[in-house]
Amino acid sequence: MTDAAAKEIHSFQTEVGQLLDIVAGSLYSNQEIFLRELISNASDACDKLRYEALTNPKLTADNPDFKIEIAIDKKAKSLSISDNGIGMNRDDLLATLGTIARSGTTSFLEGLKSAQSKTDDASASLGLIGQFGVGFYSAFMVADSVDVLTRKAGEDVAWLWSSDGKGEFSVEPAERGSRGTTVTLHLKKEAKEYLEDARIQHIVKTYSDHIGFPVTLGEDTLNAASALWTRAPKDISEEQHTEFYHHIAHAFDQPWMTLHNKVEGLVSYTNLLYIPSSPPFDLYEPERKSHVKLYVNRVFITEDAKGLMPAYLRFLRGVVDSEDLSLNVSREMLQTDPKLAKIRTGLSRKVISSLEKKATKDAQDFASFWENFGAVFKEGLVEDGPLREKILEVCRFSSTHGDALISLADYVERMKKGQEAIYYIAGDDAEKIIKSPHLEGFRAKGIEVLLLADPVDEFWLQHVTEFEAKPFKSITRGAADLDSITDEEKSDDKKDEPDLQALDGLIAAIKLELGDIVKDVRPSKRLTDSPVCLIADDGDMDVNLERILQRHGQLKTAMPRILELNPSHGIIVKLAERANRDGATGDELLKDSAYLLLDQARILDGEAPADLSEFGRRLNSVLNSAL
Ligand code: ADP
Ligand code: MG
Repeated sequence: MTDAAAKEIHSFQTEVGQLLDIVAGSLYSNQEIFLRELISNASDACDKLRYEALTNPKLTADNPDFKIEIAIDKKAKSLSISDNGIGMNRDDLLATLGTIARSGTTSFLEGLKSAQSKTDDASASLGLIGQFGVGFYSAFMVADSVDVLTRKAGEDVAWLWSSDGKGEFSVEPAERGSRGTTVTLHLKKEAKEYLEDARIQHIVKTYSDHIGFPVTLGEDTLNAASALWTRAPKDISEEQHTEFYHHIAHAFDQPWMTLHNKVEGLVSYTNLLYIPSSPPFDLYEPERKSHVKLYVNRVFITEDAKGLMPAYLRFLRGVVDSEDLSLNVSREMLQTDPKLAKIRTGLSRKVISSLEKKATKDAQDFASFWENFGAVFKEGLVEDGPLREKILEVCRFSSTHGDALISLADYVERMKKGQEAIYYIAGDDAEKIIKSPHLEGFRAKGIEVLLLADPVDEFWLQHVTEFEAKPFKSITRGAADLDSITDEEKSDDKKDEPDLQALDGLIAAIKLELGDIVKDVRPSKRLTDSPVCLIADDGDMDVNLERILQRHGQLKTAMPRILELNPSHGIIVKLAERANRDGATGDELLKDSAYLLLDQARILDGEAPADLSEFGRRLNSVLNSAL
């Protein structure tokens, strides 16, 4: 059947070409993972066919026992990995081995290139390669050329795919006695070590022991060949967990937390879930895809079962296996099965309570989780109404009281006498907000303020209005009445109350000059060092939320703010005196100062003055009159 005329030559998709250049040209210290990738593909292919065979048992009737065979040909210097899984037809080959059909490919490649040019640290780029799942192409790390002989289950024609990884590949009809795929690597001279039985045995044991199908070399079965999650937790070593996690998550880090449970009840299931110790690259992709694999009675169903895990737990990796879900329905129907929703709730509770335990027991270790995934986890405050309280208990925050992350319970415990609200300030940069003038009065009184620097903070604050009956209150919005709060630690030496009436003239002059640009001008209780700050009015949108919406084009015009003046500040006191003099109307210096104060408040908030050239002119004119 093979005739030369039927041989087609195709070019790799540009991105694959670039990727192969990087993969083939690098000397990775642990290039041996190519074998893990190929075995994992073989295992995936068996999983896929086992699923198809549920509805079409004929597909596996002639050969029901799945297996993966490794063969070494020392003479030909080749290594092959064969499976009797689902196989590929011509269309499958063209669609999968020659392209990367993933979003984010270009940015991934750029990341990879810069990681390689910046450091010679192969593990960094290798980590990226693994996470992205360029699995199959890793064969070119050790092979000059690769052949894939494959026949799809249920079809008669087999196909041979070949490539030397240099831009092109060929596809032609071929012969294969039965379904499945054989990947043959023609090894590079430097990769002869993979012709040694002992080396292969060791690699399989190291990386693929948990694979649920037997992996053989000659007569020997090299792996344990039982699904890891079906074993008793006490029988699984840390190394085995790490290896399984690497396989299932395409990762290279250690699992930060392992959750292995067997749950018996109305719906019974086993979960083996891992929380990574470093953030996966797709964490903030708009799809917010979950990566927990669903099995029914050890039969793989799907990689991202919608409805199995909530999006705010998308950092989890691993498997869930249930006997109580129906095997004989489509993936789509399974996803709407109310039993799946029960599993989701059970799992969410379990994850949240495990996190809570960890957070109380080992705050330092928990901080690393929070750094990686806190912003994602907080999405649950918006999306998971029923578990909101529990989620809130796990949440940790930076605050003005030192470097340690705190819980809301910690905060409430430390609240000052007379303090009613949980104060926070939100912004997009933690380093910047901690310098904000709005904090001055709170600092002076020793009142703790939460520093919220994740964009999601603004959104959960719309849903969570209080904790233990204490309302959340932004210190950049509304009035700040700090007078009723007392600081027990500081002696009560009452400072001279500033004369607020003296400010009336200045306030009137500024209002007149600025007009609609500001909503109001008033004396401030929250400032000690800075002369001015801007505040959102009580009913208005908070400053930071407005900024976020503007950045995303969801809001065109900004709302006018309230300009607050520090009645004790030298400049304000002097300007007030000047405003109270006769003939103050028409005083150019007062007029310029009004704008300069506003611009200064803007600058302190990390914004630009409204009109840079006017700002310069006014500054010069004020300086000039002072000199
Ligand atoms: P991934 O496994 O993450 O999808 P790979 O690069 O490892 O990425 O494999 C690409 C695709 O090639 C697979 O998704 C699968 O469709 C196909 N493939 C690779 N190896 C096999 C195999 N042994 N049997 C069937 N299909 C395979
Ligand atoms: Mg793969």
